Amino acid sequence: MKKLTCHCGAVEAEINISNKLEKVLRCNCSICKRKGSIMSIVKNEDFKITKGEDKLSLYQFYTKVAKHYFCSVCGIYTHHHPRINPALTGFNVGCLENIDTFKLEDVGLADGQNHPLDKK
Ligand SMILES: [Zn+2]
Repeated sequence: MKKLTCHCGAVEAEINISNKLEKVLRCNCSICKRKGSIMSIVKNEDFKITKGEDKLSLYQFYTKVAKHYFCSVCGIYTHHHPRINPALTGFNVGCLENIDTFKLEDVGLADGQNHPLDKK
C-alpha cells in the first residue's frame, strides 16, 4: 500500500501497490506535456481517495472521456482515468512518499499525441 498526497495535503489517496512500481511513464499528449509528471497506473479498485475528495477538481477536454483530477487548493495533478480505459487510474508518481522520480529507471513514453482512439 502506498500513500499519495497532493502538495498542500488536502488530498490523500491509498494505492494498492507493492514497493516496486510496475510501469512508469510519461505521456506526450497536450495535457501531459504541460504537466510533465511521471505516472503509473492501477485498476480503479486499487486506488482510493482517503481524504479531500471534495477538494478535487475535474478537468475534461476534447472527447471528455478521460477525467483529469487535480487539487483545487494547490493545483497538483493527483490522478486521472484515461480515455483508453476508464476502469484504470493513472496517478502522479511524484505524489508518492519515498519515491525519487529523478532516480527512476525505465520511464516509458506513452504516445498520447497519436492516441490509438484517434486513429482511423
Ligand atoms: Zn493540494
